Amino acid sequence: MAINTDKYQAIIEELKGKATLVAVSKTKPNEDIQALYHLGQRDFGENYVQELVDKEAALPKDIRWHFIGHLQSNKVKYIAPFVHLIHGVDSFSLLKEINKQAAKKNRVIDCLLQIHIAKEETKFGLDEKELHELFQLHESDELKNIRIVGLMGMASFSDNETLIRKEFQTLKQLFDQTKFVIRHSPFEIISCGMSGDYKIAIEEGSNMVRIGSLLFGERNYNK
Ligand SMILES: *Cc1c(COP(=O)(O)O)cnc(C)c1O
Repeated sequence: MAINTDKYQAIIEELKGKATLVAVSKTKPNEDIQALYHLGQRDFGENYVQELVDKEAALPKDIRWHFIGHLQSNKVKYIAPFVHLIHGVDSFSLLKEINKQAAKKNRVIDCLLQIHIAKEETKFGLDEKELHELFQLHESDELKNIRIVGLMGMASFSDNETLIRKEFQTLKQLFDQTKFVIRHSPFEIISCGMSGDYKIAIEEGSNMVRIGSLLFGERNYNK
């Protein structure tokens, strides 16, 4: 419906010099995105391929579109022409498909590997062992049209601040270890923190937060 301008300005101030704000606009109308765009926002995050494709076609071309949902391999081709950063890569086969589609478009697509940091079973992502396995595969079969530029994680959906903090710390530790393994691309992004936990995330080393409902209001999936 309407964006929260005061909240937006306050968050921008709060994040200054610390983290990039990805405004998560899934399920929200183009007018809301336009409104934030006019305040200067350029990074927007979407979870659904079709919705992202439609919005990209309709909205200004200098928007940097982040795909933050769970990406199916057969849908990579639709976003490959324009996507700025894919946050949720959690398998080597997906990475290979992104590489293939990026090559077709003569692009290099930046990706973040999603790490399973939450205690919950439902969240996607790699554990530490799988992360190392993926890097080994990447070493032997180097993909020229992708760059792994950092890690992404989602904390448990919980009020337990201690737990959430621990989960973000796990992500930061893995990031610090992994930095030394990555030789060919810049490796500098830690994407974590949402409306409910972004302050904790920043304190624990996040430099990219994904905020939706604080900016755009609650989502209504039944519309
Ligand atoms: C929806 C979503 C967000 C934003 O969530 P809010 O709680 O509305 O800020 C961030 N990250 C991912 C991966 C999401 O799916």
